[in-house]
Amino acid sequence: MKTNCSFSQVDENGFYGNYGGAYVPEILYKTVEDLRRAYLPIIESEDFKGEFRLLLRDYVGRPSPLYFARRMSERYGCQLYLKREDLNHTGAHKINNSLGQILIARRMGKRRIIAETGAGQHGVATATACALMDMPCTVYMGATDVARQRPNVERMKMLGAEVRPVESGNMTLKDATNEAIRDWCCHPADTFYIIGSTVGPHPYPDLVARLQSVISEEIKWQLEEKVGRCYPDYLIACVGGGSNAAGTIFHYLDDERVSIVLAEAGGLGVDTGRTAASLQIGSDGILHGSRIRLMQTEDGQIVEPYSISAGLDYPGTGPIHCNLYESGRARVLAVNDDEALAAAFELTRTEGIIPALESAHALGVLPKMRFGKDDVVVLTVSGRGDKDMETYLKAIK
Ligand SMILES: *Cc1c(COP(=O)(O)O)cnc(C)c1O
Repeated sequence: MKTNCSFSQVDENGFYGNYGGAYVPEILYKTVEDLRRAYLPIIESEDFKGEFRLLLRDYVGRPSPLYFARRMSERYGCQLYLKREDLNHTGAHKINNSLGQILIARRMGKRRIIAETGAGQHGVATATACALMDMPCTVYMGATDVARQRPNVERMKMLGAEVRPVESGNMTLKDATNEAIRDWCCHPADTFYIIGSTVGPHPYPDLVARLQSVISEEIKWQLEEKVGRCYPDYLIACVGGGSNAAGTIFHYLDDERVSIVLAEAGGLGVDTGRTAASLQIGSDGILHGSRIRLMQTEDGQIVEPYSISAGLDYPGTGPIHCNLYESGRARVLAVNDDEALAAAFELTRTEGIIPALESAHALGVLPKMRFGKDDVVVLTVSGRGDKDMETYLKAIK
């Protein structure tokens, strides 16, 4: 299969095939353009690489283990390895990105950090990076999510961040992102917006994918060590905006031996109108600065998304994955709320690992697949389930 969706082939204007670009209001043009000019020279400099690598090792605790899940492998008739991003400091992959972006912000002379958050993991990671670097931090979070992910709100406050609840729309991630962009428009010169996923105007999707690419960089040598070859037969990850998936597949995108399977949030079911499966039911449109597949009405109004998982409850997916879907390079499956819950309990009871609800969507792919018993499957557990205990305990009753 020939694909035209290599990360390295993101074009000059930030397009992956038909998706991407930088659709920003006039007032942000210079800010985004400054970042576009600055990001590659910075992240390719020895100075940045050294500082970033050291933080990932000694502060985040990388490399994250690649764990052979013996009991789950028996159950699904394959060789299942879990990439344990849940074991990172602050409990998810988001810290890789927040630390990378704050190092860029400092090198660009920015003084203030803003962020949006859904499940709160990106907010916590960014608040953590700001505490570490002594920078003021404002996090926008939908009021619905403030209520359903309370432990993360408390962590952000303890870390010294200001959490601003957002009460527009259905008070989730899209609405938080709107408010963060509004703030950015008011303070474009001194504020750096740390976006939490492979979404937003170019260069953010490329920047975030590169910062998260440490995940597949590690998978390569970890597999070599464990199975004697550097590539798996399958890579599985969940997609909200797409950052943990982008990091997982980054170094395998052009490797045709590797099948890529992405899980998006089905909510109550793709056809129920209560879903966040934007790749499958979306159509092309522009949201938050980028051309993507989007849940929208015929006249272009956003359809409010729904998922039990706050981190996947977003009406679109970043341009990288839209292109992977359109080109057929990735297979995309919807995993519904009940399937994700069942998968979370299954992993907990067979391997003793409580995954984040988002990651449980990736696990929910397993019963839908047919593997050969020697197939090497790498599934990224993007985060841990501490923040989701209330939802899980409710499901037991
Ligand atoms: C934020 C989050 C996600 C979804 O975001 P992506 O950018 O698609 O990775 C998935 N899992 C966890 C644990 C998260 O915190």
